[in-house]
Amino acid sequence: MERLSDISNIKAILSRHGFTFSRSLGQNFLINPSVCPKMAAASGAGKGVGVIEIGPGIGVLTCELAKLADKVVAIELDKRLLPVLNETLSEYNNIKIINDDALKVDFKSLIEREFPDMPVYICANLPYYITSPVIMRLLESKLNVGSITVMVQKEAALRLCAAVGTRQSSSITVAVNYYAQAEMLFGVSAGSFLPAPKVDSAVIRLNINKTPPVRVDDEAFFFKIIQSAFGQRRKTVLNSISFGLGIDKPKLSEVLKSSGIPENYRAEQLTLENFSDIANILSEQKR
Ligand code: SAM
Repeated sequence: MERLSDISNIKAILSRHGFTFSRSLGQNFLINPSVCPKMAAASGAGKGVGVIEIGPGIGVLTCELAKLADKVVAIELDKRLLPVLNETLSEYNNIKIINDDALKVDFKSLIEREFPDMPVYICANLPYYITSPVIMRLLESKLNVGSITVMVQKEAALRLCAAVGTRQSSSITVAVNYYAQAEMLFGVSAGSFLPAPKVDSAVIRLNINKTPPVRVDDEAFFFKIIQSAFGQRRKTVLNSISFGLGIDKPKLSEVLKSSGIPENYRAEQLTLENFSDIANILSEQKR
């Protein structure tokens, strides 16, 4: 097969299959030949390693991953791409395509089934409409994976990689920091895709923490505290958390004081330790 990432080959393949792009499925395919090898090399794919890809499209990243890893399992929602992938990936015998929705797949059992005794990494050029839900789903499932390397919109990349306690941070920044160390790898211009999206993208890597950086007694409650604090991010955490979770203000004021958090602080000024302190003290009081 001629070089898959060449724009003329991609256009010819798509036209042969009568394929039309679905905007609602976030179908912007990579046509810049330098991006996929770089992404695959950064993903952890290598000898003795398994990789899960989400949304292979016509397989430009999939084949780069398959050149490095022992096995690649790619999950594609769009049935119309199955015959295309059959053709474009025909020379690889270490790729399995699963026609499913990444928001529904049970990744834990997929890993047990497809990659027993193999270190696993995740790598994807994510459809933009599901960036946050997919990332949170992967992190919350506490999968036994080394890292998650994803291409996302640049703005989302900045939010995901922001330091907790800075103005760029949001609830997803705090959640991501609990599960992983986020790293900005490189930018990708809008012109690298067909069709070109309106905004630039970036590739980031989430290096999964072996143990969380803070002790949290009740994770569900910890994440509720974070959500409510950022739910009204212009307000002080005293107001946003007490409003969001219906907690008595004087009681919350005491909790903030005992955690050394000034009452006039906003969510973006709090550290991961601050959030875990608030959650742990309040959940202790609930008992
Ligand atoms: N990896 C290809 C590339 O880099 O050119 C395609 C990336 S494109 C941004 C996103 C891909 O994800 C498309 O192939 C789309 O059909 C697929 N997709 C969209 N929603 C999905 C979902 N919920 N689960 C799995 N795949 C999905």
